[in-house]
Amino acid sequence: DGVVYAELRRPCRVLILVNPHSGRGQALQLFSAHVQTMLTEAGVPYTLVITEHQNHARELARKADLSQWDALVIMSGDGLLFEVINGLMEREDWQQAIQVPLGILPGGSGNALAASIHHYSQSPPAWNEELLLSCGFMLCKGLVGSLDLVSVQLASRQRLYSFLSLAWGFVADVDIESEKYRHVGPIRFLMGTLVRLASLRVYQGRLAYLPVRDARRPPKAGRRSDPEPPEGGARTRTPAPAPAAPLLPALDQPVPDSWTVVREQEFVLVLAVYQSHLAEDLWTAPGAAADDGLIHLFYVTAGVSRPALLRLFLAMEKGGHLACGCPHLVYERVRALRLEPVTPQGMITVDGEVVEYGPVQAQIHPGLARLICG
Ligand code: ADP
Ligand code: MG
Repeated sequence: DGVVYAELRRPCRVLILVNPHSGRGQALQLFSAHVQTMLTEAGVPYTLVITEHQNHARELARKADLSQWDALVIMSGDGLLFEVINGLMEREDWQQAIQVPLGILPGGSGNALAASIHHYSQSPPAWNEELLLSCGFMLCKGLVGSLDLVSVQLASRQRLYSFLSLAWGFVADVDIESEKYRHVGPIRFLMGTLVRLASLRVYQGRLAYLPVRDARRPPKAGRRSDPEPPEGGARTRTPAPAPAAPLLPALDQPVPDSWTVVREQEFVLVLAVYQSHLAEDLWTAPGAAADDGLIHLFYVTAGVSRPALLRLFLAMEKGGHLACGCPHLVYERVRALRLEPVTPQGMITVDGEVVEYGPVQAQIHPGLARLICG
């Protein structure tokens, strides 16, 4: 489909980070049982590091001598990759660091990126060990494509880098509340959804976004290997502290006229995703690609009935939610967005991790990172 891939050099040196507590706490056993032999037979030498605490992977990514590694691979859920990406972006040499090919092996309870890259490879749906084998096989093949990142600005001015999602309301609540069912594996999201439906909440807030004028236009040739120019230009001597986010005004300033402003109202959920899958059985953004340069923005407004909301989530398994004819569901392709919660308490997540609650805005950086896929 015209995707331009590079190949990992051979033999390549891979650093694999395993979170022993992710999912049902079996990531290490799953690695030994299904991936180890495959990598050895494919002649892919690797070094295994078992994370010892939260943010361990983030520190490793921030401090690692990256000249030693051809790829950084995580065997966990999406949370560990979020740590690695943010560790890389905190480095002075982030412009080079974020170019190190990243890989994912599903070992967690939330394996959205693994499910997405499996889907992009045009293979029939797979779950559990089969999904792991598919991702292990992609790692052996070593094809590298581009990955969009989204920078997220919080009210405290903290900046985060996200590869998957920004969620408020129902989806964020389910993601965090269902952590206590982590031991059941990926089905925790369905359990969480049923529990949350019983106590359905609405959230008052404001939403605005920069729509994509013509999302059907094919991306420009060469874009996949051309990350956007960083702040201050690539040739300046002092390293840029972070990539520029030219689409975003200051968080306390109004959004530009080119943005669409949704009237203040009650929402059941606001969900921005930039990969096809939000979980192994949630095909959320059917048209999404790893580097389509798009934020797929969904929101559901108050007034949706419980059965209608449940139907949407059940239809999502086969990507059929947009065809449900639900008048409360809105879908837009955007480049940037701003969310201002008015309800004083609630949950906002980035890539499934809780962040500070309050106004938040985000913009896409097409192809800023690189991903082993295909
Ligand atoms: P899951 O899909 O099961 O939630 P994640 O990869 O998202 O798996 O990891 C869950 C959380 O565990 C993340 O917040 C991550 O930062 C954290 N974490 C990583 N390594 C460890 C560790 N060794 N001990 C405890 N928590 C860890
Ligand atoms: Mg997680």
